[in-house]
Amino acid sequence: MAIGTSLLVGYYVYTARQQLGTDYTALVGDIVRAQQTTPQLDHALESFIDEPILLHLGQIHHTLWLSEKYLDHVRHGLNQHPQLHRDTAYLEEDFALLSKQLLELEERAKAALVDRSLLPELQRLSMDIEATMAWAYSELNTAVHSAAGRQRLIMQRLSWAVTGLVVTVMLIALALLAAVLRLQSQRNTLKMLMLTDELTGLYNRRHLVDAASRELNDAKRHQQPLSLLLLDLDYFKHVNDTYGHPCGDDVLRKVSQQLRRISRATDIVARIGGEEFCLLMPNTTVNDAESVAERIRHAIALEPLSHLNTPFQQTVSIGVTTSIDGMHSFEQLYSLADQALYQAKALGRDRVESIHPSYPFPASQPNDTHQQSFNTLTG
Ligand code: GH3
Ligand code: MG
Ligand code: MG
Repeated sequence: MAIGTSLLVGYYVYTARQQLGTDYTALVGDIVRAQQTTPQLDHALESFIDEPILLHLGQIHHTLWLSEKYLDHVRHGLNQHPQLHRDTAYLEEDFALLSKQLLELEERAKAALVDRSLLPELQRLSMDIEATMAWAYSELNTAVHSAAGRQRLIMQRLSWAVTGLVVTVMLIALALLAAVLRLQSQRNTLKMLMLTDELTGLYNRRHLVDAASRELNDAKRHQQPLSLLLLDLDYFKHVNDTYGHPCGDDVLRKVSQQLRRISRATDIVARIGGEEFCLLMPNTTVNDAESVAERIRHAIALEPLSHLNTPFQQTVSIGVTTSIDGMHSFEQLYSLADQALYQAKALGRDRVESIHPSYPFPASQPNDTHQQSFNTLTG
């Protein structure tokens, strides 16, 4: 649309160029000056007819000289404006006749200086000349004004066209911007859908794996600890069986809210299975991780749940592991946390158990009774 409008404006400017570039000021000045010679000539002839002396003949001569001079200027000016010249071509004959009559007038005035009987004829000729001049110059004025009017109209249309073009370009730019923003928001929504769990709104396993690899790199680079919590709801099948699947879904959402509430903004909370969750905690020591796990366990156990006015309780078992320097893979940490979780289940559920990787030269003193060597576990 913008290209089409630009082409139209371009074509219009091209065709209107001749008229737009024209300045009629000089020509109008010449016409006004030429028109002013008519009363001057009239006055000189009156003086001569009243008193045909050499002085008055001289005045006629001077006025005629001026009239011819300005007539020449006007004709020359018309040649500068081809369009106007074409519009006033019909005046050419009158201008030629005028030039001839002006010459003739001077000759007759000279003759009348000697023979006064020629004065009436001289007066007739002068009246003819005045009439021709008045008519021709008035026609010329009209033509110049209508040409100037056309010029104004073109300018006006052109400014409308330019305004239209600018508005069109702006509208297109706005439409493009809106389309880009919509695409961007669709892309973000899609990305969110790909990375989050529909039921709880928590991150899914895919995002957890990506984020864990980034966080482990950071921990390694800065020699910082990183902790991983694996959570599994206890006897959740029983909730579904007793109160129904929708009630089970509600419990999953409530547990998610508690996890969100207790975790920090930098932690990554994910739902990695039906009733299994994971909390990845960058820059978190063994003690901090275990204390967070304990808070979560406590909060979930105390969460007021009910179905059709029947209150019930939900507990969670949690496995904790911590890499003190980020020198472990996610798979290694996941495996340790999973084994700690298994222990928590085996030891009666609703509890937190820890298994941390061992180091050839331990950097910290283990504080958990269930610690096992990662090397032993992985064979
Ligand atoms: P344990 O203490 O050993 O973990 O026992 P459990 O019953 O929690 O474990 P199990 O693996 O036998 O059962 C998990 C249940 O979680 C089975 C399944 O119906 C339920 N579950 C999985 N996904 C969803 C879900 O999206 N919504 C609901 N309501 N239940 C789910
Ligand atoms: Mg399970
Ligand atoms: Mg379970």
